[in-house]
Amino acid sequence: MICFSDNTIQSVFCCCCCCSVQKRQVRTRISLSEDEGLPEKYPQPTRPWFSEHSRKKQSNRGLQPSKRKPLPPLPPSEVAEEKILVKALYDFLPREPCNLALKRAEEYLILEKCDPHWWKARDRLGNEGLIPSNYVTENKVTNLEIYEWYHRNITRNQAERLLRQEAKEGAFIVRDSRHLGSYTISVFIRARRGMEATIKHYQIKRSDSGQWYVAERHLFQSIPELVWYHQHNAAGLMTRLRYPVGLMGSCLPPTAGFTYEKWEIDPSELTFVKQIGHGHFGVVHFGKWRAHVQVAIKTISEGSMSEEDFIEEAKVMMKLSHPRLVQLFGVGIQRKPFYIVMEFMDNGCLLTYLGDRRGALRKEMLLSMCQDVCEGMAYLERNSFIHRDLAARNCLVSSTCVVKISDFGMTRYVLDDEYISSGTKLPIKWSPPEVLYFNKYSSKSDVWSFGVLMWEVFTEGKMPFENKSNLQVMEAISKGLRLYRPHLAPMSVYEVMYSCWHEKPKGRPTFTELLKVLTEIAETW
Ligand code: ADP
Repeated sequence: MICFSDNTIQSVFCCCCCCSVQKRQVRTRISLSEDEGLPEKYPQPTRPWFSEHSRKKQSNRGLQPSKRKPLPPLPPSEVAEEKILVKALYDFLPREPCNLALKRAEEYLILEKCDPHWWKARDRLGNEGLIPSNYVTENKVTNLEIYEWYHRNITRNQAERLLRQEAKEGAFIVRDSRHLGSYTISVFIRARRGMEATIKHYQIKRSDSGQWYVAERHLFQSIPELVWYHQHNAAGLMTRLRYPVGLMGSCLPPTAGFTYEKWEIDPSELTFVKQIGHGHFGVVHFGKWRAHVQVAIKTISEGSMSEEDFIEEAKVMMKLSHPRLVQLFGVGIQRKPFYIVMEFMDNGCLLTYLGDRRGALRKEMLLSMCQDVCEGMAYLERNSFIHRDLAARNCLVSSTCVVKISDFGMTRYVLDDEYISSGTKLPIKWSPPEVLYFNKYSSKSDVWSFGVLMWEVFTEGKMPFENKSNLQVMEAISKGLRLYRPHLAPMSVYEVMYSCWHEKPKGRPTFTELLKVLTEIAETW
């Protein structure tokens, strides 16, 4: 007998009542008989976890019921979690004895979800240990993430860049469409007589009977079947889908901390390679952890931070983990000066990146950067975490030009009179009226700042209200004046940033709503 259960995995970032909660819907297939439900390509003898499981069951069966009181049934959630099979998306090298190595494309059994980011798993040989949950995906044919061609978190612009790098006729990916629950195939078409190389985006549609199609005459029960068919037949597309383009294994995503519950970093394991910047708290270095993991190390100059408060908060912040947030790996507190270790971003600060490439970035790229930030902010919003200082200077750019948010929540730990009491260093030009007048921060005050960040992006890094003093800006804002439309921003984009500057927080959209609108705009360009 086979049934399905909808499990909501909830992870709590702190144990107080105001804790941030991350929810992930996992639809788990549970096979209640021993053999049913195993895909044919995995015969039972190659699955030690199953043989062990069934051995246990066999021996239980062998007991005389009269000699032993029957065990109470397992609670449903444990049964559901018992047989989650996952496939590794990336290789993972153990960092501590408690870790288990992952090999890309191999299958593992999840034994326990210790927290949202670290799961206990067992490999085919029976080895057990902790693995990063973002390195695996549930291994079932209906989960698109097991296919190389599927990219969930990718904008239309990023898809185009990826395919242009490949530049092969028929290179393709499948990505989520702006319509919830629908998908788009993006495919590279090489230059032909009289036509430049181009990327075609085909929306995968659904018929009334629930079947998927791109070309109306060819309907399929599932997306993988549709893709497989069009890999062999163009059937209405400009080319058949020849080369799946994957990110799998190419660049390893950061893990939430180096391993489970390890937030303190041993200084002897860090190498400072070179200085790359200077911020509020002190010098920033590019460095290595255990000689091979690239990291950015922020040294905390004495007297610049309320350290004890921050260290407590760092434990919470490490559990914030998302592809559009700069990952915090841990803190070094064995001796002064303390330091913060985080994900290294090759292309540095977004504001500098924009300024250095003035005139060279297409509007599609600018919009894609805003989508990246909006996605990260939607994650913070879902977790009730307020950034408080969102601006282009606090975002960083990766080697693949993905923008990630940094310094979330950090202004709370700045010890600086100009920042705290006189307010001369407060980011006035990024702050809404309720922050300026009542110090009232919320996700909606972040939304205001996001509108200003969009303006910075579409002016390629200009200073907002460039000729005005902070006082003049406050007066202008309370009179209802707002930033002008940057000439690179079409009206549709200006409307989005303008909607973030509603006088009242309630009148502003949420990040989730903003993300939807931005995706819609990107798909129509
Ligand atoms: P603070 O927030 O303490 O004022 P910043 O985060 O602005 O300091 O860091 C100063 C500079 O150091 C940035 O402008 C950027 O160039 C560089 N930097 C900071 N963090 C990173 C990182 N994770 N990866 C790469 N460069 C970084």
